Amino acid sequence: ILLRHRHQATELLQILIQAQQIEGWLPAATLTHIAAALGLPRARVEGVAGFYSFLYTQPVGRYRVLFSDNITDRMLGNAELLDALCRKLWIEPGHLSEDGLVSVTTTSCTGLCDQGPAMLVNGRAIGQLSHRRINEIAELIRQQRPLELWPAEYFQIDDNIRRRDALLGLDMPPGAALQAAVARGRDGWLAEMQASNLRGRGGAGFATAVKWASAKNAPGAPKVIVCNADEGEPGTFKDRVLLNSFADLVFEGMSLAAWAVGASQGFLYLRGEYRYLLPQLEAVLARRRAAGLLGTGILGQAGFDFDIAIHLGAGAYVCGEESALIESLEGKRGTPRIRPPFPVTKGYLGRPTVVNNVETLAKTCLIALGGGEAFAATGTAQSAGTKLLSISGDCAMPGIYEYPFGVPISRVLEDCGASDTQAVQVGGASGICLAGYEFHRRIAYEDVPTAGAFMIFDGTRDLFDVARAFVHFFAHESCGFCTPCRVGTSLLKGFMDKLADGHGAQADLADIDWLDRLLKNASHCGLGSAAPNPVIDTLQKFRPAYERRLVSLDFEPAFDLDAALAEARQLTGRDDSGAHLKTHEEDEK
Ligand code: SF4
Repeated sequence: ILLRHRHQATELLQILIQAQQIEGWLPAATLTHIAAALGLPRARVEGVAGFYSFLYTQPVGRYRVLFSDNITDRMLGNAELLDALCRKLWIEPGHLSEDGLVSVTTTSCTGLCDQGPAMLVNGRAIGQLSHRRINEIAELIRQQRPLELWPAEYFQIDDNIRRRDALLGLDMPPGAALQAAVARGRDGWLAEMQASNLRGRGGAGFATAVKWASAKNAPGAPKVIVCNADEGEPGTFKDRVLLNSFADLVFEGMSLAAWAVGASQGFLYLRGEYRYLLPQLEAVLARRRAAGLLGTGILGQAGFDFDIAIHLGAGAYVCGEESALIESLEGKRGTPRIRPPFPVTKGYLGRPTVVNNVETLAKTCLIALGGGEAFAATGTAQSAGTKLLSISGDCAMPGIYEYPFGVPISRVLEDCGASDTQAVQVGGASGICLAGYEFHRRIAYEDVPTAGAFMIFDGTRDLFDVARAFVHFFAHESCGFCTPCRVGTSLLKGFMDKLADGHGAQADLADIDWLDRLLKNASHCGLGSAAPNPVIDTLQKFRPAYERRLVSLDFEPAFDLDAALAEARQLTGRDDSGAHLKTHEEDEK
């Protein structure tokens, strides 16, 4: 493994992932050996190994079962299925079986919300879990049957494309868009991109041509193109479908970016949960190399040299943030950088780097083929083109829908067969929760921007539970670098748990407000500032879901202190009034 990665420290994460594949986990001796071989301090190697959820520095089962734990998986009953599997295997959730055979626990959203409940077994995705399937899986694990011999239909992941528009309806031979762009020349192609008004599909909506031009004009070489395929936002799975069935468009988009910017090195950063797509993506890259669409002198253009390597992530949501992703690509912990400088001037190894979303890059093929003006003519004034939505939750037809920007929420709900809809969470956990009176609003940067997640909750759902699940997610995914987020997300989680346990008071709602301001103003990156969004939105729009959990109007402790002293009373043999704490009501008297 070390030789394959040329003993380079930038490959540390990939080396750890591959070492773990052989040993099942990362024993201390392995970390020591890797540190010595790479000439790195052992603490650095251990720090990286400890950062990523899918790297294990303690033994895990030969079968590692991770249940997807997005709110939509919960709505489909993942908790009962997890319990059922654990009962059948005689293990506790979160623990390793005594014989080392199996461990079962949860992970954040696995990008299979349209076919949940879902799980990963040794990195392989299995969707549409049912009690029958769980029984069969328990038996296969007990028999220690290798995963390759499990029924193939378990691992079948459907695209579930329900509505196609310009992108999903495109039938393009590999290389056609690149040929069109090369024929325009580098400057002509960049001008076409400027005319298209394409904005990044990752959620922020930054103008793609501006990003490319900045990297093109920045000093430093070789320049780098990164495709951000770390689709970790709960409820989003459109990139899974693009990578599964439209990989040529994505890789071609990377080459189009390289042609405009003058880049020679490309990375596709693939989220660990999509590792099962790796062999087919490598096969597409090999085909493109054989066709002369990657390598040196592409399409006969002297100086157009570009190739792409795939790097795997390992279960860290924060790596979706572009500077954290670059840190991870450099083999470090995925901690967001202080900006400026921005990646377009100082990115991967200090070189000018463009980081684009999977969908953004695929869309550039449409512009190369049809021209910038034609692209800009679709969608709305500030949001050109179409948007892929990942639709899940309470609807008859979850899946992928492509719409021109400007489509109203109500139209989307109608198309996917949703009824009695109480709320829609657009943009994932960090997005916005829309109530019924807002369903006239439109998907567009000027109204409701989104990276693509569209989760539907009908009238039977408790929006407090939805917000609480998202808050738990953020507390788990905080990278811990800055105190406001590390402590603030944990406090927020504590407040939501206190309310859920029936100990909530009005004062807690005021404290939640205060935490919102703190997280928004003092967090180092978008994760921290977005963390309170689900709570604040649902507090404003579904306040009764919170108020019915309030016990006292002023203060209610998070736990019963007198009950907690019961063991001490028993040990000392005392149960007189002096051994009890007075209640708030007794104090009042
Ligand atoms: Fe890390 Fe949170 Fe700070 Fe972002 S805001 S750097 S995720 S601790």
